[in-house]
Amino acid sequence: MLLLASFLSSLALTWAAPTTQDPGYNCQPGQKCWPSLREWQQLNKTIDGHLFQTVPMGAPCYENSTSYNAATCDVVENNYNNSIPRVGYYGQTYWQNWEACGSTGCSLLSEDPSQKLYPTCSLGRLASYYVDVRNASHISGALKFAKEHNIRISIKNTGHDFFGRSSVPNSLAIWTHNLNTFDFFSNFTASNCPSANGKNVGEMGAGVVAGDSYRYFNTKGMDIAGGYEESVGIAGGFGQGGGLGDFTTTQGLMVDNAVEFEVVLASGEVKTINECNDPDLFWAMRGGGGGTFAVLTKYRIQLYPSVAIHTWNFKANFTGNQSQALHWVLEAHAENSLEWSKQLVTGSVDYYPGKVSFGLVLPSNDGSKLKAATAKFNHFISNRSDIAVVENSYISFANYTAFLALSSADTRATEPAGIFSLLASRLIPRDVFSTPSGIAALVDGVVHGIKTAAALLPLAATSVVLETPVSNDDSQHATSAHPAWRDAIWHVIHAGEWEERLSPAAQENATDGFLKMLDPLKALSPGGGAYMNEAHWGEPDWQATYWGANYEKLLEVKNCYDPTHIFDCFKCVGWRGESDPFYSCYEEW
Ligand SMILES: Cc1cc2nc3c(=O)[nH]c(=O)nc-3n(C[C@H](O)[C@H](O)[C@H](O)COP(=O)(O)OP(=O)(O)OC[C@H]3O[C@@H](n4cnc5c(N)ncnc54)[C@H](O)[C@@H]3O)c2cc1C
Repeated sequence: MLLLASFLSSLALTWAAPTTQDPGYNCQPGQKCWPSLREWQQLNKTIDGHLFQTVPMGAPCYENSTSYNAATCDVVENNYNNSIPRVGYYGQTYWQNWEACGSTGCSLLSEDPSQKLYPTCSLGRLASYYVDVRNASHISGALKFAKEHNIRISIKNTGHDFFGRSSVPNSLAIWTHNLNTFDFFSNFTASNCPSANGKNVGEMGAGVVAGDSYRYFNTKGMDIAGGYEESVGIAGGFGQGGGLGDFTTTQGLMVDNAVEFEVVLASGEVKTINECNDPDLFWAMRGGGGGTFAVLTKYRIQLYPSVAIHTWNFKANFTGNQSQALHWVLEAHAENSLEWSKQLVTGSVDYYPGKVSFGLVLPSNDGSKLKAATAKFNHFISNRSDIAVVENSYISFANYTAFLALSSADTRATEPAGIFSLLASRLIPRDVFSTPSGIAALVDGVVHGIKTAAALLPLAATSVVLETPVSNDDSQHATSAHPAWRDAIWHVIHAGEWEERLSPAAQENATDGFLKMLDPLKALSPGGGAYMNEAHWGEPDWQATYWGANYEKLLEVKNCYDPTHIFDCFKCVGWRGESDPFYSCYEEW
């Protein structure tokens, strides 16, 4: 009997195999398998005319392009380095790195868009075609077509990803940016899941950008656990990979607050998932990253009654022995960090070799707490002879929207879109801060990174981000975000940026240098990790670095829900790997 059962189950496996095997989805333009114009037109009909051939955002400004048009070029130039209008174009990414493929691309110079970065315009690593999705059936239609023709799918929202995960050359892209609806439920009833019912639940379409969500939910008297920059797609890669911002210390990561998702599965089926329905998939999409398990169309999230926002802005230049001053400020900052985290103080501190900028934040209805928590530190730092204070101000705002109006104007001025970037980051665990030797090693490691980054790239800064989920230990393992988050006090990000194309050798040097400079911080956090959305794209041990012990289960969920791997992105769970020709641009980025 046992023998018969095992014979039957092996037969079942054999029969099932063809539908679960990865066909590669590797058909490329110019090959016989690539659909004819008539077939693309047929797809267009089935998705209500929402299929488009990709035109790079810069194309109207390139004379050699069939899209050249002087009037349209004027509009492009005006929008080029402003992230909000920029995300309204499919044919762009926030960082130029991921529009280009080696020496080909179609970008303009961010600081002066009348200048072109490439001699001629080409698609670079943007998809060949994209579906401007308006409802879930358009996604199902695109998936069906990709399966029929063995075509690679990519999923893009804003194109903000730091690894370029949303732009895959020769793919058919699912563009979710225009799924931008909102809803608010003061009494929420989850789908077949009484335990997920609750009060004050917000709903966002997958294409909603962060700033719009803060403003919409503030009109309902609510705050949402989002980020700080307005143009990030909050329900896309952000809300599926972690999502941190000024409410993380008080509310947790965005994934901690997810209540329910509407998704289109790899099979094309539209489903509502939550802790009762497809709980493994729901868990995986709460930290496992975008572009991997299913296409999300709606995100439902726990909101919190709006509170006042208190800020401390302190800017200073180091005078005299700059290195000594930098060292001292970092050390004093580290010594205060356990206490500040206990008080749920958040925000970030930007360090440069010659200056520092504190932007600390406390969401609270108690207006005196932030001042009390930082008073002693403020007194010491303001009275050193080797520090010249430029700004030292405490400002309070009635709510997050009022704060955003000021902070995002500042971000727009200081962070232009459409440049090149490189990150290297590490989550620093609590125990490092509890001994003088731990703090000394941490300060040495961060200073090493600050100096190395500045030597490697013209625009470099190091942010010590205090937005860690210190009030949410995720003891129930409801999310798949790296467990290192739960113990982290600092999220250290070394960032380098540049405007003009670098030579391949300079680029390689910077990429290797940024990775190597993390070594001291890695030595301080063995078994730890980095935030998958804000890390170095070249991490060799990427599975453990981005997801730690959760990777194995994430891979199981991936194989169960997407057995043919129709969803694939660079260093995402179940990634096909470096030998896949669709990722060859990374070799010469
Ligand atoms: C200026 C700037 C500021 C930032 N600030 C913060 C911050 O404060 N906090 C923070 O946590 N992070 C921040 N980030 C990082 C951010 O979390 C990542 O860039 C993230 O990938 C952005 O997601 P997106 O959907 O907007 O980007 P995209 O590049 O469009 O997508 C990112 C990934 O998600 C996938 N994806 C997108 N939409 C869907 C969908 N509907 N279904 C399935 N997969 C999808 C894509 O395939 C891709 O793999 C910032 C980034 C930038 C550029």
